[in-house]
Amino acid sequence: MIPYGKQDITQGDIDAVIEVLGSDFLTQGPVVPRFEELVKTSVGAGFSVAVNSATSALHIACLALDLGPGDRLWTSPITFVASANCALYCNASVDFVDIDPTTYNLCPQALEQKLIAAELAGALPKIVVPVHLAGQSCDMKAIKALSDRFGFRIIEDASHAIGAAYGDEKVGSCHYSDITVFSFHPVKIITTAEGGMAVTNDPVLAGKMERLRSHGITRDPHLMTHTPHGPWYYQQIELGFNYRMTEMQAALGCSQMTRLHEFIERRQQLAAQYAELLNDLPLMLPYQLETTASSWHLYIIRLQLSELSKSHLDVFNELRSAGIGVNLHYIPVHLQPYYRQMGFADGDFPHAEQYYQEAISIPLFHAMTDEQQLQVATSLRRILI
Ligand SMILES: *Cc1c(COP(=O)(O)O)cnc(C)c1O
Repeated sequence: MIPYGKQDITQGDIDAVIEVLGSDFLTQGPVVPRFEELVKTSVGAGFSVAVNSATSALHIACLALDLGPGDRLWTSPITFVASANCALYCNASVDFVDIDPTTYNLCPQALEQKLIAAELAGALPKIVVPVHLAGQSCDMKAIKALSDRFGFRIIEDASHAIGAAYGDEKVGSCHYSDITVFSFHPVKIITTAEGGMAVTNDPVLAGKMERLRSHGITRDPHLMTHTPHGPWYYQQIELGFNYRMTEMQAALGCSQMTRLHEFIERRQQLAAQYAELLNDLPLMLPYQLETTASSWHLYIIRLQLSELSKSHLDVFNELRSAGIGVNLHYIPVHLQPYYRQMGFADGDFPHAEQYYQEAISIPLFHAMTDEQQLQVATSLRRILI
């Protein structure tokens, strides 16, 4: 089976992890800060906080922005459940904004309409989480303009988008947001096995997130209620968690970061080749805004079902039978049983639901060969025509 995504681990990556295993620190040593430095420099942010997953990063990002009971967080229905769940961890409520049917990202026009209605109802969101689906940035200028007008904060879920660009800047510069979150799960662009990071330009938010990842504990005398009793002293000043990243994960991350550029180049090349290979098939290929350069975490095709005699499920099953490890990103979050029980229902977000009827993620990963790609394209052609 040709998988839809796969990590790429070299001997260099393995050596870096083994070296750390023989060192003095397995956690809370010098490698995590080194990894934080590499990522923040690469994306152009001022501060970075490494954690054990992007899910944890979303949670502490929400808490740092004071999301709590009675507050609202809005995100896209076409995302992994974690982008929405983070609000529920904070006892806030979740709502969704429908996608743009061409980019599949949260639609700024739909957001504006919903904000106007929410303002009248006195129910504006505190946080909006735009998700850069497949690695293509959302229209951040438009979303930032709405944030200035309606007063909400922005957390970019860039789990798919390390190495991507928006305008002249890298995704993660936080030029149009308060905090940006990355995931290093093995299917993503670079991996630390499990792992994530929150980046920001605000030192206060960074300090809060650092405390929240480690029990709410500080060693900074300025933040304490009295002078430290001695060099051992620390204070817990709020309720935090153990969301720390290990040194082995950070060592893998540092090693992977040296190849980020190479990863993105190959993904961009494979995407360009797919565009050529699939161009005449009854499909909608991923539309790219001129202002964005995707990291191509996923290559998502949409079937033009009116031109096909087969169903979405038939095509999906036939591809799997042909050894093509296709997948579907994502089941609209509001249609998950857990969210339906909060009152969400079919028809709430029609563009997202239509997308779900037609979308398929086809294989795209760093080590994919041109031959494998040709095999995917040939199978698709045979199945569709
Ligand atoms: C993978 C992913 C997450 C969660 O990442 P973890 O590191 O596995 O917690 C969140 N949001 C999106 C969009 C993702 O793709």
